[in-house]
Amino acid sequence: MPTTPATVRNLIGGEWTGDPAVERRNPARPEEVVAVAPSSAAADARAAVTAARQAQPAWAATPPPARGAILLDAAELLRARHEDVARDLVREEGKTLPEARGEVRRAIDVLRFFGALGWHATGEVLPSGLPDTQVLTRSEPVGTAALITPWNFPIAIPTWKAAPALVTGNTVVLKPAELTPLCAHHLASVLVEAGLPAGVLNVVHGRGSVVGDALARDERVAALSFTGSTAVGQGLHRVLSERRARVQLEMGGKNAYLVLDDADPAAAARVVAAGAFGATGQVCTATSRVYVTPGIREEFTAALVKEADAHVPGDGLLPDTTMGPVVSKDQLAVDTAAIARAREQGARVAAGGFAPRGLLLRPTVLADVDHSSDAAREEIFGPVVAVLAVDDYEHGLARVNDSAYGLAAGICTTSLSRAHDFAARVQAGVVKVNRPTAGLDLNVPFGGVKDSSTNTFREQGTAAADFYTWTKTVYLGHQ
Ligand code: ADP
Repeated sequence: MPTTPATVRNLIGGEWTGDPAVERRNPARPEEVVAVAPSSAAADARAAVTAARQAQPAWAATPPPARGAILLDAAELLRARHEDVARDLVREEGKTLPEARGEVRRAIDVLRFFGALGWHATGEVLPSGLPDTQVLTRSEPVGTAALITPWNFPIAIPTWKAAPALVTGNTVVLKPAELTPLCAHHLASVLVEAGLPAGVLNVVHGRGSVVGDALARDERVAALSFTGSTAVGQGLHRVLSERRARVQLEMGGKNAYLVLDDADPAAAARVVAAGAFGATGQVCTATSRVYVTPGIREEFTAALVKEADAHVPGDGLLPDTTMGPVVSKDQLAVDTAAIARAREQGARVAAGGFAPRGLLLRPTVLADVDHSSDAAREEIFGPVVAVLAVDDYEHGLARVNDSAYGLAAGICTTSLSRAHDFAARVQAGVVKVNRPTAGLDLNVPFGGVKDSSTNTFREQGTAAADFYTWTKTVYLGHQ
């Protein structure tokens, strides 16, 4: 059944503005226009910052529980439209319906978590070396934060950046990914309907090189949180560091798994497949290289191929579909070029390796991959996993760590001591033992090391609030 495209507008100073200009089409059904959104200018980004600056003092003066209450009410509103938003997410980004439902559920829970945080004490009371004096610390909001987000978790990521910023008294300008304006619109809508005052959250749609760049260069933006590619993140880092503003970057990954002889091959294959092919592999923590010791290699690879071959790529709204399409033509071109290059560099395509129709790509297992080849080094961001041989645990750990990236890593083993040793020595911000690299809890810190992350402030959990606040130390004496 054809649906009318949604009209998405900017949100600036409480007004929905901007002429819808750019179409977003359903990656599973290119004839279907899902949403039309503005293509904003740098001046729109600056207007949003002006609105955010104006709204900030009153918002910071609002008691934290009252700020949190708005997030809690927004969570309720999102819950009431859970199914509709999940279906829009499928049509806009391409996840399967169960994956999309899970993501919207995540956004609801994040709003609840940070809404409740409004009631929590912040700061400490400490003794002073001075007589009749107490020291206390206050968490002050940084001011106005810019959030630049990617398309792969189009509602969860904007939510997990905006919620901690808002509850701690900051105002926000959000620049969502061009491919997924509608999901960001749903988030903004529930926050506005829940009573967020005008200017506290602003949303500007448009190109990264225009809107994102203008936000990064605006001196009034005190902090910028970004999730996206390493190349863009590094450029933003230069701009923000130059003017000594805070910057939080979550960028690429080349997440590795180590499968040891003592693991169960079928269970290991399930874990690796879930990490590699979930959400069509378009996840920054997706498993993309697997090092396997000799005793289990053959059985594990066969089991992984079976997992890949069992997938049914298709339209995420259809009940039989287990894997949605690739998000765009450009991304599919990146994926297929990477597979072709892997072949040229000696890999054997053990499963998938081709795009049967449209933007659908079969989950792909590349076997006999050489550790020095591109398939073992460069992020692909699709349902493609490389299998590589290692001699033993030490060899495998060294290979896992031999990467420019350090976001997530995992090990399949039944040895508790190996698991502990791996957790201690692996160079990654997230470590999983016998669990898929992708899939995170919302109440715990998240972030990477090396080229994956700024590795300063973590996202998610209570740690997320640190990026949006600074500590003031007050010496309180009495006369
Ligand atoms: P992805 O592969 O997820 O599209 P990008 O890094 O290109 O990764 O995009 C992530 C976000 O960064 C998007 O919202 C995009 O519009 C934005 N972006 C892209 N280029 C720039 C830039 N030069 N300055 C600021 N933001 C940018």
